[in-house]
Amino acid sequence: MTTIGFVGLGIMGSPMAGHLVEAGHDVTGYDVGPTGLDKLKAAGGAAAASAAEAVRDKDIVITMLPQDEHVEQVFRDVLEHANPGTLYIDFSTITPQTARWTAQEGTKKGLRVLDAPVSGGETGAVNAALSIMVGGAEADFEAARPIFGALGKTVALVGGNGAGQCVKAANQLVVGGTYALVAEAILLMENLGADAAKGLDVLAGGLAGSKILELKRESMLARNFVPGFRIDLHHKDMGIILQAARQAEVSIPMGALTAQLIAAARAMGYGSLDHSALLLVADALSGRAETDGES
Ligand code: NAD
Repeated sequence: MTTIGFVGLGIMGSPMAGHLVEAGHDVTGYDVGPTGLDKLKAAGGAAAASAAEAVRDKDIVITMLPQDEHVEQVFRDVLEHANPGTLYIDFSTITPQTARWTAQEGTKKGLRVLDAPVSGGETGAVNAALSIMVGGAEADFEAARPIFGALGKTVALVGGNGAGQCVKAANQLVVGGTYALVAEAILLMENLGADAAKGLDVLAGGLAGSKILELKRESMLARNFVPGFRIDLHHKDMGIILQAARQAEVSIPMGALTAQLIAAARAMGYGSLDHSALLLVADALSGRAETDGES
């Protein structure tokens, strides 16, 4: 049995921690809110009163937190309270720089550090079917395999520390851009008199097909934007992507445009909706803001 400290028991972290309990590990969790702690206790894990308590004397420490600032804050507790040799895995989506900082500072304290952002959404977390992109040393990746195996289906070591976050940035670039184009395709079909539902079925079966068309075309057509993955979090990710592109000195005009559309969605008050709500931005840009699902 492996002892695990798990900090950040939200939409993603809560089911992930539950799977680790099911896999037979001794999981102690911490979250600033009560909901995730209650769920973990119900699943057979233990609740800590602080991050420091959760990470002390554990074989493995895991974080699944919203953004860089939260990871930085909790990682300071990890540095202070985790034992040398502890394997630290951060599943959050943050900047590659912060991931590298955790690796540099962690190594000084004898910690083994992996960045391991995930894709697959809440459904992927609940079904233990996440895609996990990992940055770090090969030996640490191998040591973490049982953890990844309990949480995901597609797992790859994609480079050194920070590389997992680089691949996650690329993932979010494609997801955001795809939503923006699917939204425009829907708008086009609806306003040219074509049957948009049948049209999307055809698109999904051809070269334009994608996981997004497969999973989201019906809810988008119905203008149902219950999250899922919130616009606010994708806005955070677009910031990471643009910063990474600037650092790499590459030009990503499609990414920049997608970032502006997501910023518009947020400015229109859709920050808490699913990121497929980019369709509402497309509607508004064409003066179809009143469309409410009956089109
Ligand atoms: P969430 O907001 O539901 O969960 C984050 C949890 O962290 C919350 O329960 C919050 O209370 C807790 N928290 C914040 N600060 C804390 C602190 N200092 N100490 C302890 N707990 C703290 O977010 P989520 O949807 O679970 O996403 C987590 C990360 O995973 C984000 O980086 C997100 O971008 C990424 N992600 C999310 C999805 C998704 O579909 N939701 C998919 C892939 C990746």
